[in-house]
Amino acid sequence: MAGWANQPAAGGCDRAEGEAIGARVRWKHHRPVEEIVKPLNESDIRSSIVNASRGEIERMPLPGLHEVLWGEREYLGWRDHQAPLRGYLVHWIDDRPVGIMLRAASGSMRPGISAMCSLCRTPQPSGQVTLFSAARAGQAGRDGNTIGTYICADLACSLIIRILPPASPGQPDPTEVVARRAEGLLNRVRSFTADVMKPA
Ligand SMILES: [Zn+2]
Repeated sequence: MAGWANQPAAGGCDRAEGEAIGARVRWKHHRPVEEIVKPLNESDIRSSIVNASRGEIERMPLPGLHEVLWGEREYLGWRDHQAPLRGYLVHWIDDRPVGIMLRAASGSMRPGISAMCSLCRTPQPSGQVTLFSAARAGQAGRDGNTIGTYICADLACSLIIRILPPASPGQPDPTEVVARRAEGLLNRVRSFTADVMKPA
């Protein structure tokens, strides 16, 4: 390993590594780097959208990309302030960014009840979760075929899952809780965009 001596200590690792503690081996699972949203630029985002017309993609406003903490995003999501029912989410599938245009239902859920986002599964007051529909990619979408699902209204699941639960005896380590939530979110976002892209 002498050849590695000058390597800087890596903050992340792309594989699981075992750590021997006495007779026990504790496995630490590091999230593969490629599973986290890599930085996206404007042209990545515009070319990623699979279910909108060219004109809609040109008119799409972008969020402030320089403020994004990319290592803490399972997907990048934002609402359109000029067209309040519009929203967008973009995430990486291998080396390809895949983006979905969403449309929020105009009616809102009954106030006072609690609702759950289908992507991050965080229970919240109903006003903070919205029914969004996504046109399917390709001809099916042009024919009006859509998929609906409840998602955090601000499309910021990655922020809400990182609110740490209080540490308490007998409870799992809060950072492990966040890692588990992140993994679940990533899997569900992938399955949602796969559905949108699936030929009907
Ligand atoms: Zn959510």
